[in-house]
Amino acid sequence: MGYELTGKGLNEAMEEWAKDYAIYGPRRFENGGRFSDTDCIRYGEVTSVDEIVFDQKSEFSFKEVLLPVSEVLFYYTEDSVKEAEGPKKGALIFLRSCDLHGVKRLDEMYLHNGPADSFYRKIRERVKFVLMGCERECTNGFCVDLGTNICTDYDLSVDLAGDGYQVDCKNEAFDDLLQQLCLRQKEVVPAYVTETSVRVKIPEGIDQRISGSSMWREYDSRCIGCGRCNFVCPTCTCFSMQDIKYTDNEKAGERRRVWSSCMVEGYTEVAGGGSHRKKNGDRMRFKVLHKFLTFKKRAGYHMCVGCGRCDDICPEYISFSDCVNRLEAGMKEVAANDSQ
Ligand code: SF4
Ligand code: SF4
Repeated sequence: MGYELTGKGLNEAMEEWAKDYAIYGPRRFENGGRFSDTDCIRYGEVTSVDEIVFDQKSEFSFKEVLLPVSEVLFYYTEDSVKEAEGPKKGALIFLRSCDLHGVKRLDEMYLHNGPADSFYRKIRERVKFVLMGCERECTNGFCVDLGTNICTDYDLSVDLAGDGYQVDCKNEAFDDLLQQLCLRQKEVVPAYVTETSVRVKIPEGIDQRISGSSMWREYDSRCIGCGRCNFVCPTCTCFSMQDIKYTDNEKAGERRRVWSSCMVEGYTEVAGGGSHRKKNGDRMRFKVLHKFLTFKKRAGYHMCVGCGRCDDICPEYISFSDCVNRLEAGMKEVAANDSQ
């Protein structure tokens, strides 16, 4: 069912929803940007639709709601362990189509890739999604080539329409309130883009032999291994464990999982001082092939959703989409070497 609402009407709806849900959306953090006097758009709790930034892409994705940057899993003392309680309320997350496709990837990793992760599930079960329509393409995004530009699997959608909003509701739990607050009912189709300036061509038939291509060596020096590309990615899921000991009793403390990155030094270190991927180019290879080869073998679809955030954030101006577009030549190179 579709609805037309004024900003005041939508804010009244959000006030009601806030009784059951913490509402998250991309909002502006003034002076929170990378450079002095710049702002940052990232996810945070909002109380009104006016706080939500509709005309810019968030630097970080919705991921930090489902997978907090630092999450306490349990508390321990000498003789007891207590699991951390989940959030008191459910969550309502405003997000774009590519990011909503990203949720499917997180679910695949945390719920279906072996035993389900109970900490993730505890949050995930209580989350509802509000799709934000995309009227125009975003910088560096390539969602159309990955088929993530359209999404119908949402609870609600919200699009700006003149001074008001158009809402589509697919979850009848929200219908009654919207009927009371709307100006009128109407058919609503969330906006989506049909083409992007950045294109990717993912070659069919790439295989692990591409690990031997010379293309990866360029990234040994260009990439500085900062891990930013992983942290902003809605589909990167790696973390490290940290035990925090309390200072008044070292035998008591808490265990946290904290975001980590396959691009940073130390991530693949093993006992005895070994490391699976010492060079930055090898880490780039691992990341790209996870997104476009190994994940697909298991799940049947690509891991990357084409949001372009990794390109937006890289301090070395490394383009992930360019790298993907080089895979075909890389594959030809190793095939030619094999035939010699
Ligand atoms: S790899 Fe880059 S483009 Fe793909 S989902 Fe992650 S951040 Fe977005
Ligand atoms: S953001 Fe750029 S420099 Fe940093 S790890 Fe990723 S590719 Fe390398």
